[in-house]
Amino acid sequence: DSLKIIEKLESQLKEYNLEKEVKVVKTGCFGLCEAGPIVIVYPEGAFYSHVKLEDVERITEEHLLKGRVVKDLLYKESVEEDTIKAINEVGFYKKQQRVALRNCGLINPEVIEEYIAFDGYQALAQVLTEMTPEEVIDVIKKSGLRGRGGGGFPTGLKWEFTAKAEGDQKYVACNADEGDPGAFMDRSVLEGDPHVIIEAMAIAGYAVGANKGYVYVRAEYPIAVKRLQIAIDQAKEKGLLGENIFGTDFGFDLEIRLGAGAFVCGEETALINSIEGKRGMPRPRPPFPAHKGIWDKPTLLNNVETYANVPQIILKGAEWFSSIGTEKSKGTKVFALGGKINNTGLLEIPMGTTLKEVIYEIGGGIPNGKAFKAVQTGGPSGGCIPAKYIDTPIDYDNLISLGSMMGSGGMIVMDEDNCMVDIARFFLDFTVEESCGKCTPCREGTKRMLELLEKISEGKGVMEDITKLETLAKTIKSASLCGLGQTAPNPVLSTLKYFRDEYEAHVNEKR
Ligand code: SF4
Repeated sequence: DSLKIIEKLESQLKEYNLEKEVKVVKTGCFGLCEAGPIVIVYPEGAFYSHVKLEDVERITEEHLLKGRVVKDLLYKESVEEDTIKAINEVGFYKKQQRVALRNCGLINPEVIEEYIAFDGYQALAQVLTEMTPEEVIDVIKKSGLRGRGGGGFPTGLKWEFTAKAEGDQKYVACNADEGDPGAFMDRSVLEGDPHVIIEAMAIAGYAVGANKGYVYVRAEYPIAVKRLQIAIDQAKEKGLLGENIFGTDFGFDLEIRLGAGAFVCGEETALINSIEGKRGMPRPRPPFPAHKGIWDKPTLLNNVETYANVPQIILKGAEWFSSIGTEKSKGTKVFALGGKINNTGLLEIPMGTTLKEVIYEIGGGIPNGKAFKAVQTGGPSGGCIPAKYIDTPIDYDNLISLGSMMGSGGMIVMDEDNCMVDIARFFLDFTVEESCGKCTPCREGTKRMLELLEKISEGKGVMEDITKLETLAKTIKSASLCGLGQTAPNPVLSTLKYFRDEYEAHVNEKR
């Protein structure tokens, strides 16, 4: 639909001879999926939502030709009587703070000059001409940035380990193999602002002593791959990748590697195997990638969102970044909000924002006046948090203490109608499908768990099955080789913890 709207807008500009005055800019995601397709007209910032093909003529004739905003096409919350609010004043955006997503929906990701106009590649210039690699690592360490891919490991420490590791060749890699159901944080950054990843990876390369980088992207993201390749080509043309960047001795090159849709390839050692052209299966750790990564060389691996923060940290300083968030979780986090929620979409909030603020203020509450029941964070690796914890500030530690985790940022809201046993079954079904089969606890154990869950949810279980399920879940968690198996039982364990009565009700309602 958006492509047809763009086509129509362009033909109308031609028809009315407005091509010199008005420019159509194709951007990445604005975040508010629920309101799409979206057209924003500047300088007024008029935010037209749910735009249909037949609305384009009115926008052209009224707004572009006569300068009159078409109020009935504006996003419902952006107009109050006669006043048009700035878009960052409406509920969905008001509590957000955009660092990783700052350019998404604003610039044309296929035009390097637009990225440069918004301070693009300035951080790289600053790093290469004014800072030593140690100083760069120090800034990242002081900022408190932690890995946004799931584990939350301190990013600066990871950089330091790789910098100190011995090796004639080092690599920098980016994990863009986003596979959680319903998650699209990395996709939005790559589609909306691909240069930020290139710039951050070059900065990382300088800091750790690597001259080569790989971005591992899932092949199911064709637009992200296309835009990233365009961005890499443009950066090379401008001398921002290649030899002697900004006239210095530093050179850095970047390549895209495509993933073939295996969820386990998001695990760092499986991803490295896949980059090397091997089957994407995890390796035991240690050795960690910082010492033995791609082709056994020291490798720095961060995810898309982690990198997307780096240029801003360099430009604005570690103190600025660490002033956002909570004591142990600094900065912002991007979430993909879905499920039973009015405003589905992509949001970026300061760490420490409460679940309630996300669900009711940003998310606009639960549709049809239903009661909020639980929220699942962290995708298949995470857990379900019940309504009684709605006032919890979101950060790494709080989510873990509730039996869930940050994960990469999936957030699925459930209302009073959702059966929590079914939710656990959905996620377990996913992990059973995606288990790579290398180790027995995950390969066999998750299948047995799924059988038990199916038996219970179909009303054929006995109370002992619930105990068996719990014991099996704990064993798989502690005995599996990689993160996929170690976290696969989380949706079951968290629902057993908070909603055991629903499991028991299934057992008691025998069919
Ligand atoms: Fe493969 Fe699962 Fe074992 Fe990981 S835990 S190595 S995904 S079988």
